[in-house]
Amino acid sequence: MTTIAQRLAQVHDRINTVLRATSRPAGSVQLLAVSKTHSIHAIREAAAAGQLAFGESYLQEALDKLTQLTDLPLTWHYIGPIQSNKTAAIAQNFDWIHSLDRLKIAQRLNEQRPAARARLNVCLQVNISGEASKSGVAPCELAELAQQVAQLPRLQLRGLMAIPAPSHDLATQRQAFAALRHLLEELIAKGLLLDTLSMGMTDDLEAAILEGATIVRVGTAIFGQRQYQND
Ligand SMILES: *Cc1c(COP(=O)(O)O)cnc(C)c1O
Repeated sequence: MTTIAQRLAQVHDRINTVLRATSRPAGSVQLLAVSKTHSIHAIREAAAAGQLAFGESYLQEALDKLTQLTDLPLTWHYIGPIQSNKTAAIAQNFDWIHSLDRLKIAQRLNEQRPAARARLNVCLQVNISGEASKSGVAPCELAELAQQVAQLPRLQLRGLMAIPAPSHDLATQRQAFAALRHLLEELIAKGLLLDTLSMGMTDDLEAAILEGATIVRVGTAIFGQRQYQND
């Protein structure tokens, strides 16, 4: 059986192979381990192998894990859908949010972020493939939302996130990620100080890094297949 430490090393190899091929510096992509549905034990195993940043999508599950892992110096990223009645708990407990796509939610998070904590790092999720069912702000509405979020004092707008429609074709994968990079470049040209492109998962992290990802969000390649209880 492959251990989590071995799987993590394999993912780092994949990341570093692309970085070398594109002459991007080693360490310019952060690996976010997506631990949703996986156990406290699995997270401790990953942490023991040096992985300290974790992504969660389901709030109650995430809060249970956070309270049991306070002995470790972990960074928590919220990457799931955000309902308004969940913003207080998210603002109090997380370091990053990748899935912000509405001003109303941003304003609530801004009001609810405890003064004792650093500003909450946020990425705006963009609906890059234009799928009606997907969350994310439409590209044509992104600039206005970004300007508004950038003015909220308890949030730190860091960049953009997207989950493109799945594809097994490298060129198609790259096209979606390039579109997100162009949107980030447009916002930077408008004067926003942004440094983060959260894009790429287990099946498409190579394409994402080729197009400039700075954070890849990887679950399956580290922890194995997810078993959903309610599916
Ligand atoms: C589950 C999830 C991931 C991880 O996906 P894998 O294919 O298992 O690597 C990444 N990002 C988001 C937003 C997710 O919900």
